[in-house]
Amino acid sequence: MIIAIVAHDGKKAEMVQFLNEHADFLHQNEIKLIATGTTGSKVEKVGFEVTKLLSGPYGGDAQIASRVSEGKCDMVVFFRDPLAKHPHEPDISVLMRICDVHDVPLATNPSTANLLFEGLKKSGKLNPAN
Ligand code: PGA
Repeated sequence: MIIAIVAHDGKKAEMVQFLNEHADFLHQNEIKLIATGTTGSKVEKVGFEVTKLLSGPYGGDAQIASRVSEGKCDMVVFFRDPLAKHPHEPDISVLMRICDVHDVPLATNPSTANLLFEGLKKSGKLNPAN
């Protein structure tokens, strides 16, 4: 399973906290993480293995959208900052639209992300036999 993580600047600390809370689950199930550049660097610093793409404003969100559309990403955890302006707003919209087009789970805040992870644990979808 491949999960993409993206966090706007005002939400990066929450992303690190979220991943730390789920570290055992992520490691035990060999879940691969991909991330936009700066989010990836923050997450790496606290010990997660992550494939870093371009920073969001330079095309990272678009790269993740591309992977979702190619079936190469199974879930997106995208902690958006609704109180900040983003020069790459069009790319952000594309990423969310592509998740909806391909029916890929997308969490845009920690409460939803927690529910998605709980659902994953219960669904058995992490078992390769399913
Ligand atoms: P960043 O990009 O992880 O490179 O900061 C996130 C975003 O702004 O979409």
